[in-house]
Amino acid sequence: AEELIRKSELLSVVGQMAAGVAHEIRNPLTSLKGFVQLLQAFPNGKAEYYQIMLSELDRIEFIISEFLVLAKPQVVIHQPRHIQRMLEQIVMLADTHAILHNVQIVTQFSSDLPMITCEEKQLKQVFLNLMKNAIESMPEGGVVTVTAKQDGDMLLIIFTDQGCGIPEESLEKLGEPFFTTKETGTGLGLMVSHKIIADHGGKIHVRSQMGKGTSFEVQLPMR
Ligand code: ADP
Ligand code: MG
Repeated sequence: AEELIRKSELLSVVGQMAAGVAHEIRNPLTSLKGFVQLLQAFPNGKAEYYQIMLSELDRIEFIISEFLVLAKPQVVIHQPRHIQRMLEQIVMLADTHAILHNVQIVTQFSSDLPMITCEEKQLKQVFLNLMKNAIESMPEGGVVTVTAKQDGDMLLIIFTDQGCGIPEESLEKLGEPFFTTKETGTGLGLMVSHKIIADHGGKIHVRSQMGKGTSFEVQLPMR
Protein backbone atom coordinates (compact mmCIF):
# COMPACT_ATOMS: atom_id res chain seq x y z
CA ALA A 1 0.00 0.00 0.00
CA GLU A 2 2.85 2.30 0.89
CA GLU A 3 4.40 1.73 -2.49
CA LEU A 4 1.12 2.62 -4.16
CA ILE A 5 0.84 5.83 -2.24
CA ARG A 6 4.35 6.77 -3.19
CA LYS A 7 3.59 6.04 -6.82
CA SER A 8 0.42 8.11 -6.84
CA GLU A 9 2.27 10.97 -5.16
CA LEU A 10 4.96 10.71 -7.79
CA LEU A 11 2.35 10.76 -10.51
CA SER A 12 0.79 13.93 -9.20
CA VAL A 13 4.21 15.60 -8.98
CA VAL A 14 4.86 14.66 -12.59
CA GLY A 15 1.41 15.95 -13.54
CA GLN A 16 2.03 19.22 -11.74
CA MET A 17 5.36 19.63 -13.48
CA ALA A 18 3.88 18.93 -16.88
CA ALA A 19 1.15 21.48 -16.26
CA GLY A 20 3.76 23.95 -15.10
CA VAL A 21 5.96 23.47 -18.16
CA ALA A 22 2.98 23.84 -20.45
CA HIS A 23 2.00 27.04 -18.69
CA GLU A 24 5.52 28.48 -18.72
CA ILE A 25 5.96 27.77 -22.40
CA ARG A 26 2.54 29.03 -23.44
CA ASN A 27 3.34 32.65 -22.54
CA PRO A 28 6.37 33.06 -24.79
CA LEU A 29 4.57 31.05 -27.49
CA THR A 30 1.58 33.39 -27.40
CA SER A 31 3.90 36.34 -27.68
CA LEU A 32 5.77 34.72 -30.59
CA LYS A 33 2.52 34.04 -32.39
CA GLY A 34 1.50 37.67 -31.97
CA PHE A 35 4.73 38.92 -33.49
CA VAL A 36 4.51 36.50 -36.43
CA GLN A 37 1.00 37.81 -37.13
CA LEU A 38 2.25 41.36 -36.83
CA LEU A 39 5.03 40.70 -39.32
CA GLN A 40 2.53 39.01 -41.63
CA ALA A 41 0.45 42.18 -41.65
CA PHE A 42 3.43 44.53 -41.76
CA PRO A 43 6.27 42.73 -43.53
CA ASN A 44 8.57 45.70 -43.07
CA GLY A 45 8.50 45.12 -39.31
CA LYS A 46 11.22 46.59 -37.18
CA ALA A 47 14.36 44.77 -36.20
CA GLU A 48 13.33 44.96 -32.57
CA TYR A 49 10.43 42.58 -33.28
CA TYR A 50 12.97 39.96 -34.24
CA GLN A 51 14.92 40.73 -31.10
CA ILE A 52 11.85 40.13 -28.93
CA MET A 53 11.02 36.96 -30.84
CA LEU A 54 14.56 35.69 -30.34
CA SER A 55 14.43 36.35 -26.63
CA GLU A 56 11.11 34.51 -26.35
CA LEU A 57 12.68 31.58 -28.19
CA ASP A 58 15.65 31.74 -25.84
CA ARG A 59 13.30 31.53 -22.90
CA ILE A 60 11.56 28.45 -24.26
CA GLU A 61 14.91 26.87 -25.00
CA PHE A 62 16.14 27.62 -21.48
CA ILE A 63 13.05 26.16 -19.79
CA ILE A 64 13.34 23.00 -21.83
CA SER A 65 17.07 22.61 -21.21
CA GLU A 66 16.52 22.98 -17.45
CA PHE A 67 13.98 20.19 -17.64
CA LEU A 68 16.21 17.91 -19.65
CA VAL A 69 18.52 17.75 -16.64
CA LEU A 70 15.69 16.05 -14.79
CA ALA A 71 14.92 13.61 -17.57
CA LYS A 72 16.62 10.26 -17.07
CA PRO A 73 18.50 8.39 -18.29
CA GLN A 74 21.18 10.66 -19.62
CA VAL A 75 24.87 10.33 -20.16
CA VAL A 76 26.45 11.38 -16.90
CA ILE A 77 30.16 10.90 -16.57
CA HIS A 78 31.64 11.38 -13.12
CA GLN A 79 35.30 12.32 -13.23
CA PRO A 80 37.83 13.70 -10.77
CA ARG A 81 37.90 17.49 -11.03
CA HIS A 82 39.60 20.41 -9.26
CA ILE A 83 36.83 22.09 -7.33
CA GLN A 84 38.76 25.35 -7.03
CA ARG A 85 39.30 25.60 -10.78
CA MET A 86 35.58 24.99 -11.39
CA LEU A 87 34.61 27.70 -8.92
CA GLU A 88 37.09 30.15 -10.43
CA GLN A 89 35.55 29.57 -13.85
CA ILE A 90 32.08 30.19 -12.45
CA VAL A 91 33.22 33.42 -10.80
CA MET A 92 34.64 34.57 -14.13
CA LEU A 93 31.43 33.66 -15.93
CA ALA A 94 29.24 35.42 -13.35
CA ASP A 95 31.38 38.52 -13.16
CA THR A 96 29.67 40.43 -16.00
CA HIS A 97 26.28 39.68 -14.45
CA ALA A 98 27.68 40.86 -11.11
CA ILE A 99 29.14 44.11 -12.46
CA LEU A 100 25.80 44.95 -14.10
CA HIS A 101 24.16 44.56 -10.68
CA ASN A 102 26.85 46.51 -8.86
CA VAL A 103 27.90 43.36 -7.04
CA GLN A 104 31.39 42.33 -6.04
CA ILE A 105 32.33 38.65 -5.84
CA VAL A 106 34.80 37.66 -3.13
CA THR A 107 36.30 34.18 -2.87
CA GLN A 108 37.56 32.37 0.21
CA PHE A 109 39.12 29.08 -0.80
CA SER A 110 41.05 27.12 1.77
CA SER A 111 44.43 25.98 0.51
CA ASP A 112 44.81 22.56 -1.13
CA LEU A 113 41.16 21.87 -1.73
CA PRO A 114 40.77 18.23 -2.79
CA MET A 115 39.72 16.87 -6.16
CA ILE A 116 36.13 15.78 -6.34
CA THR A 117 34.47 13.10 -8.44
CA CYS A 118 31.62 14.81 -10.23
CA GLU A 119 29.80 15.61 -13.42
CA GLU A 120 31.54 18.89 -14.11
CA LYS A 121 28.89 20.52 -16.31
CA GLN A 122 26.07 19.74 -13.92
CA LEU A 123 27.94 20.90 -10.84
CA LYS A 124 28.87 24.13 -12.60
CA GLN A 125 25.22 24.64 -13.44
CA VAL A 126 24.40 24.41 -9.71
CA PHE A 127 27.14 26.89 -8.77
CA LEU A 128 26.00 29.30 -11.46
CA ASN A 129 22.36 29.06 -10.31
CA LEU A 130 23.30 29.80 -6.70
CA MET A 131 25.62 32.61 -7.76
CA LYS A 132 22.95 34.22 -9.94
CA ASN A 133 20.36 34.00 -7.16
CA ALA A 134 22.81 35.62 -4.75
CA ILE A 135 23.51 38.46 -7.19
CA GLU A 136 19.82 38.96 -7.98
CA SER A 137 18.96 39.17 -4.26
CA MET A 138 20.82 42.52 -4.05
CA PRO A 139 19.14 45.06 -6.33
CA GLU A 140 21.17 47.82 -4.66
CA GLY A 141 24.43 45.93 -5.07
CA GLY A 142 26.66 44.36 -2.44
CA VAL A 143 29.06 41.48 -1.94
CA VAL A 144 28.69 37.79 -2.72
CA THR A 145 31.17 35.62 -0.87
CA VAL A 146 32.03 32.18 -2.24
CA THR A 147 33.64 29.94 0.35
CA ALA A 148 35.06 26.47 -0.26
CA LYS A 149 36.50 24.34 2.51
CA GLN A 150 36.80 20.83 3.84
CA ASP A 151 34.77 19.63 6.80
CA GLY A 152 35.66 16.07 7.76
CA ASP A 153 34.90 13.94 4.72
CA MET A 154 32.61 16.60 3.27
CA LEU A 155 33.41 19.46 0.94
CA LEU A 156 31.47 22.65 1.68
CA ILE A 157 30.80 25.31 -0.93
CA ILE A 158 28.93 28.31 0.44
CA PHE A 159 27.39 31.24 -1.42
CA THR A 160 26.63 34.12 0.93
CA ASP A 161 24.87 37.32 -0.09
CA GLN A 162 23.84 40.53 1.68
CA GLY A 163 20.47 40.56 -0.01
CA CYS A 164 16.79 40.72 0.82
CA GLY A 165 16.62 37.39 2.64
CA ILE A 166 13.92 34.74 2.27
CA PRO A 167 10.73 34.91 4.36
CA GLU A 168 9.88 31.88 6.50
CA GLU A 169 6.84 30.93 4.42
CA SER A 170 8.93 30.88 1.24
CA LEU A 171 11.72 28.74 2.69
CA GLU A 172 9.64 25.58 2.45
CA LYS A 173 8.69 26.33 -1.14
CA LEU A 174 12.31 26.57 -2.31
CA GLY A 175 13.02 23.89 -4.88
CA GLU A 176 9.38 23.49 -5.87
CA PRO A 177 9.06 23.83 -9.62
CA PHE A 178 8.03 27.34 -10.72
CA PHE A 179 8.27 28.90 -7.28
CA THR A 180 9.67 32.31 -8.10
CA THR A 181 9.35 35.84 -6.74
CA LYS A 182 11.07 37.37 -9.77
CA GLU A 183 9.30 39.04 -12.65
CA THR A 184 11.26 37.08 -15.22
CA GLY A 185 12.23 34.14 -13.01
CA THR A 186 11.56 30.52 -13.97
CA GLY A 187 11.57 29.03 -10.49
CA LEU A 188 13.53 26.08 -11.85
CA GLY A 189 17.06 26.88 -10.72
CA LEU A 190 16.84 25.50 -7.20
CA MET A 191 14.81 22.45 -8.21
CA VAL A 192 17.42 21.49 -10.78
CA SER A 193 20.23 22.27 -8.31
CA HIS A 194 18.73 20.06 -5.59
CA LYS A 195 18.38 17.21 -8.04
CA ILE A 196 21.98 17.48 -9.26
CA ILE A 197 23.43 17.69 -5.74
CA ALA A 198 21.31 14.71 -4.62
CA ASP A 199 22.67 12.77 -7.61
CA HIS A 200 26.15 13.52 -6.23
CA GLY A 201 25.18 12.18 -2.79
CA GLY A 202 25.15 15.69 -1.32
CA LYS A 203 22.78 18.21 0.22
CA ILE A 204 21.94 21.90 0.04
CA HIS A 205 21.24 23.87 3.22
CA VAL A 206 19.80 27.36 3.40
CA ARG A 207 20.22 29.97 6.11
CA SER A 208 18.51 33.30 5.75
CA GLN A 209 17.82 36.45 7.71
CA MET A 210 15.35 38.99 6.38
CA GLY A 211 17.07 42.18 5.31
CA LYS A 212 20.51 40.76 6.15
CA GLY A 213 21.14 38.08 3.60
CA THR A 214 21.13 34.43 2.73
CA SER A 215 23.64 31.65 2.45
CA PHE A 216 23.26 28.48 0.45
CA GLU A 217 25.61 25.72 1.57
CA VAL A 218 26.35 22.83 -0.78
CA GLN A 219 27.70 19.73 0.99
CA LEU A 220 29.42 17.20 -1.21
CA PRO A 221 30.90 13.89 -0.06
CA MET A 222 34.53 13.35 -1.05
CA ARG A 223 34.57 9.79 -2.31
P1 ADP B 1 14.39 31.94 -10.05
O1 ADP B 1 15.76 32.46 -9.75
O2 ADP B 1 14.15 31.77 -11.51
O3 ADP B 1 13.30 32.73 -9.37
P2 ADP B 1 15.17 29.73 -8.34
O4 ADP B 1 14.67 28.33 -8.22
O5 ADP B 1 16.60 29.92 -8.61
O6 ADP B 1 14.27 30.44 -9.45
O7 ADP B 1 14.80 30.51 -7.00
C1 ADP B 1 13.46 30.50 -6.53
C2 ADP B 1 13.18 31.66 -5.59
O8 ADP B 1 13.91 31.50 -4.37
C3 ADP B 1 13.59 33.02 -6.10
O9 ADP B 1 12.61 33.59 -6.95
C4 ADP B 1 13.73 33.82 -4.81
O10 ADP B 1 12.49 34.24 -4.32
C5 ADP B 1 14.25 32.76 -3.84
N1 ADP B 1 15.71 32.84 -3.67
C6 ADP B 1 16.62 31.99 -4.16
N2 ADP B 1 17.88 32.35 -3.81
C7 ADP B 1 17.76 33.48 -3.07
C8 ADP B 1 18.69 34.35 -2.41
N3 ADP B 1 20.03 34.13 -2.44
N4 ADP B 1 18.19 35.41 -1.73
C9 ADP B 1 16.86 35.64 -1.68
N5 ADP B 1 15.93 34.86 -2.29
C10 ADP B 1 16.36 33.79 -2.97
MG1 MG C 1 17.56 31.32 -9.99
